[in-house]
Formats: sequence, C-alpha cells, structure tokens
Amino acid sequence: MRTLVIATLLGLAAPLCLAQELPPVQLEVAGPVDLGSAPTKIPVKPVAFDVSAIDKSADPCQNFFQYACGSWNKNNPIPADRAAWGRFSELSEYNNYLLYKDLVAAAEAPKTPLQKKYGDYFAACMNTDVIDKLGDKPLLPDLKSIDELTSVKELPAFNAKQDRRGGGAFFAVVITQDQKDSTQQVAATGQGGLTLPDRDYYLNPSPRFVKLREGYVDNMVKTFQLLGDSPEKAAKEAADVMSIETALAKGSLDRVAMRDPATRYHPMSVADLQAKTPNFDWQTYLNGIDLGQAKTVIVSSLPYLDAANAEITEENLPAIKSYLRWHAVHAAAPLLSKNFEDLNFDFFNRTLGGQKEQMPRWQRCTSITDRALGEAVGQDWVKQNFPPASKQATEKLVKALEAAMAQDLQTLPWMSPETRVEAKKKLDAIADKIGYPQHWRDYSSLDVKRDDFFGNAQRSAAFERHRNLEKWGKPVDPSEWGMTPPTVNAYYNPPQNNINFPAGILQPPFYDVTKDPAVNFGGIGVVIGHEMTHGFDDQGAQYDPKGNVRMWFTPDDLAKFKARSECYAKEYDGFEVAPGQNLNGHLTLGENSADNAGIRIAFQALQNTLKEEGDKAEPGYVDGKRDGYTADQRFFISFAQVWCGTETTQAAINQAKTNPHSTGEWRVRGTVQNFNEFGKAFGCKLGDPEMPASGGCRTW
Ligand SMILES: [Zn+2]
Repeated sequence: MRTLVIATLLGLAAPLCLAQELPPVQLEVAGPVDLGSAPTKIPVKPVAFDVSAIDKSADPCQNFFQYACGSWNKNNPIPADRAAWGRFSELSEYNNYLLYKDLVAAAEAPKTPLQKKYGDYFAACMNTDVIDKLGDKPLLPDLKSIDELTSVKELPAFNAKQDRRGGGAFFAVVITQDQKDSTQQVAATGQGGLTLPDRDYYLNPSPRFVKLREGYVDNMVKTFQLLGDSPEKAAKEAADVMSIETALAKGSLDRVAMRDPATRYHPMSVADLQAKTPNFDWQTYLNGIDLGQAKTVIVSSLPYLDAANAEITEENLPAIKSYLRWHAVHAAAPLLSKNFEDLNFDFFNRTLGGQKEQMPRWQRCTSITDRALGEAVGQDWVKQNFPPASKQATEKLVKALEAAMAQDLQTLPWMSPETRVEAKKKLDAIADKIGYPQHWRDYSSLDVKRDDFFGNAQRSAAFERHRNLEKWGKPVDPSEWGMTPPTVNAYYNPPQNNINFPAGILQPPFYDVTKDPAVNFGGIGVVIGHEMTHGFDDQGAQYDPKGNVRMWFTPDDLAKFKARSECYAKEYDGFEVAPGQNLNGHLTLGENSADNAGIRIAFQALQNTLKEEGDKAEPGYVDGKRDGYTADQRFFISFAQVWCGTETTQAAINQAKTNPHSTGEWRVRGTVQNFNEFGKAFGCKLGDPEMPASGGCRTW
C-alpha cells in the first residue's frame, strides 16, 4: 500500500508496520533453549578487487561483464536456497552470519535488557518445536473475526482493527512525508491488495503467466484445505480471491505511471474521498486508527479507488471473506508450522522465484530479528564491524564525490547558467548519513516473549504501525533511517534530499581500507555517486533542494534533459534478461540514470585524488600497474565486480517486471557503453560493443 518514493541501490522491501503501550520487559535469566542446528557452511568474508573473478579469455571490449565476472560467476553457481546469487548476497550473508553470532550470544547469556529482548525474539523464531506444535492455532482468532463479518458495512471498523498487522481489505492509510511541503507528514492512501508480484501477473495473456496463475490458484486451494476446508469450498474460495485480485489489478496503475510524482499526488478531503468511494466509510476507519481528526488524505492512485469500491457490495461479502481469509493465512504462513511454511514456499519461492530449497532457519530468523529490532541488534553490530576510522574514510570519499559533481556541473554542455545555479544549490543541500543513526530507536514498549514467535511478530507489527500513525501532523525527522545498520544497500530520499549508507555496505567488496583509491572509488565511490545523482534523475530532478516537488529546470533545459533521459530508456529497453523478457527502460530509468551519472562522478573523483595525492594514492603499483592493471582499469573492474552474480530465469523475469533496477549484467554493460573513458582504459575500438560509435547516452 505504501507509496514508496525512496530510491535505493537495490530493490527494497520496506515492511510498513504498527502498537500498543506495554510495560518495559524485565531482565530475567534466560533458560536453556534449542537454538536449532548451527550453520553447516560458514560464510567467508568477501574480498574487494578479486583477480580470480576475472575471465581473462574474454575480451573486455566485447562483453565487460563476462570479462570482470566470468570466472566468479562460473565458480559461484546459485545455491539451491537462493533465486539469485552475487556479491551483494555474498556480503549480506556474511553480515548476517556475524549478526547471527551476536543473536546466539544474546539468546544464551544476555548482558543488557536490549540483548535480552532481541535474544528472546531470535530464540522464539528458532524454536520450531513450539511453532510446529501450535500449527494454525495462532491464526484462529483472526480467522474467527473474518468469519463473524455479517455485512460489508463492518469492513471499515474491521480494517482499523486488523491493519495493525497489515491486514484488512481494499483500503489503508499510512503517514508519509508531504511532497509539496516536505516539512510535514500527511495521511495517504495508495493501491495494493494483490498477492502476485505485479498487476501484469494477473492480466498478461501469455502462456507463461497463464500457467503461473494456475499454479497460484492451485496453491490457494491447497492452503485452504490445510485450514480444514473441503476441496469444493477451497476451490470456490480460491476463485473468489482470484476474481477480487484481478479486479484490483485492472484498477491499479502500472509501475511506470507510479514513478511520476504528479501522477501519484491527489489531495482529497475526507468528504470527497467518501463521495468517490461510497461503499467504504472512511470516518469510521480513520476514527479506528486514531486519525479521526484528519481532514485530508493524499490519494496516489485514483483508478484504484473506483476498482476497490466496486468490489465492496453485500452480494460480494462471501468472496470478500475468502479474500480476507487468504490474505490472513498467506501473511502468517512464515510464522506458522512447517506445513504452512512449506506450502507457501512451494509456490511463492520455488515456482515464482526458481528457488529450490528454503534458506537455513538461522538465516531466516536472523533476517526476521533484524527487521523487527534492527536498531537494537545494530547497536552491537556496528561496534564490532564499523570502527570510527571506516566512518571517517567514507565521509572523505563522499566529500570527494561531491566536489567531483560540483566540477561536473560547471562543464555540462547542455545546461543553461540558470539551471546550473539551481543544480549546485541542490547538490550543496544534500545531507550525508553514514553508517548508522545518531540516535537509536527506543524499543522499550515492545513486548517480546521467548516462547511466542507469532505473538512477537504481531506485537512488532503493531509497534511499527503505531510509530507510523503517531507521525501524523508532526514535523519530519530527517535523522531517521529506512534501513538497518547491517543492510547491504543504500538509498537517496528525494523529499529529504539526503543520502544514506548503512554500515553493512561499507565493507569489502565495496570498500577496503587496504586497497588503492581506484578500487574504492570503483566500488563504494560509484555507489555514493549513484545515490547522490538520484537527486538529479528523471524523478529526483522534480524535487527542489528542500525536497518539495517543484520544477527548477528552465523549460528549455527540461526539454533537453527529457530527450537525454529518453536515450537511456531506449538503450535499456533493448537489453534482454531472460528469453523473451527485456528490461523496461522507463521503469528502470531513474536507476540507470544514477548508475551512469554515478560512474562519471566517481571516475572524476579518482582522477582528482590521483592528481592531488600522486604516488601516495597508488600504493602497491609497479610501473603504473597493480595486479597487471592501471588505476583506470582497476576502477572499472572494481565497479563491475560488485555486480558479479547470476539469477534464475524466474527471478530475472520478476526483476524485469517489478524492480526499478536493471539486472547486474546490464548495470555494468549499459553503463560502460555510455562512458568513453572505459573504452579508452581498455584500448577498445570505436564501434566495439562496449564502446559504441554513437558515444552512448548522457544526462549528467
Ligand atoms: Zn538507486
């Protein structure tokens, strides 16, 4: 439901959640608990600039991804418990392993109340004996309340009660930053209610998607039967769900349309909203979530309002109950006994993602605990894994990148002096957030029980939801973080004009203090450049230095900028990620723009550093080379190697359909094809695939 405007480095699943005031937890002695089997394979720490990853039989000018990553990809097939595998997942798994060790220590012998809390959360998740014994019992109260609905008039109050767990049907309101007044937080409602990854999965007539829909229906039928429904009843319920979700899919805007801030911003009074959706009583719902005073709601998808409203009829009540029942069990499946978890995995991971096996439980529980208590577990994690020296070194890199971008702005050939001044103002206003929050969140009101995995997840969801709703009408706090410290990702937040780099990504292969600047500028430098230039991509450029949607280009420059952006869209439209499935150049436009601008700025920052620091900047170089490569070559190889990796066909299709990021191979090849310095560094000929005669595309 959430209108997510944050531009990340990778796809981001930001679970939005929810709370009740509870007494602080008492520190007590932890009893012995079976923390499950220990990891059988210990993850190893990734290395930056890996010569053994290179396929020297490949020609860098013909296919640079194959050259930089060919051997790594060959030697690192996708593990059975993954749908994709690459350097990001390698580092993420390693970070998770370090976190896992903290969680085990906290579960066995906590030293602080906070350790007791996250140790218990983890222990409850690992305790499959209790979870399996309970079966579907934890879900029964929710199923009962669905069963007891007697009229669609009860839906608004029901939603208000349920949406503390992300439940409810058709409509939900969240608090988000106002894109026209970025100091304020406002109530907003979006589109959603689907189970499959995108509207296209319901509507695409091709055999691939017809078959997926059959698999989805089959999975629902089996799941309803697991809840004790007869085969006939289960089949009817699955058909009901499909009918409602297909109607909602038809009424949903596609992902390209939702990228445009103007398309997704429609402030409506509650009275107007009520007039548009007469079948749902908004005031009852808003009262129920303590937002009764709200007078305005920002609507992000107008056609969705009509589609959802049309489903809310008394005749449709039995179907709505099937739909609610499905969403309740589907959301809860990872928290229930093994039979529910396995059945859910079978379709949503195996069929949809091509993942053969489940990830080991220790990995899943580590991630689940990190999601629920990220700024609790992160406090100890950063102490061990992100020393102050790393923070200072990253700050220095960011300054070098900002200086290079300022330089770039002076020389951009297509931009008028007026727009140049505005762009510089925006660049100067970017705030840098590095490593972890200055102030950690307070989890004292979250109640965690060592033997109640399901309850912990519900209370955690309620805690997050409450936190979100509490923000209504309050000033924005830009010091908040949207990612936990061990996360291997980064983001730019357009309404806040800030860049955010969690400690988890400031590690090899992205950053290594022992390596030369060429390697670090190619790795984390390009990542920093990527995030910074999100402020200037086709979406980010619509926000001013304060984070308000306001056009600051002159009309003439805007026309030139749009034409140049279209060049990227056309280029990436041509890249095939799986048989018959190309990237969507407009869906990935912002990310591709950021990749292309980011690499230019990082390359410039490297040149500045080499000039300023001379020999000092080239430790280990002999006759201008290290490991047989010049600084410029090392920069490009380091850049490419963070994207080494492969994905299953299903995962590549999912990504092309739903993810604004291109796949790793095309992030590398698409980018170098637009940057002549690459071809020069490797002695390519104009007209080689990686050095097109056209010179490629460029905005910044
Ligand atoms: Zn990005």
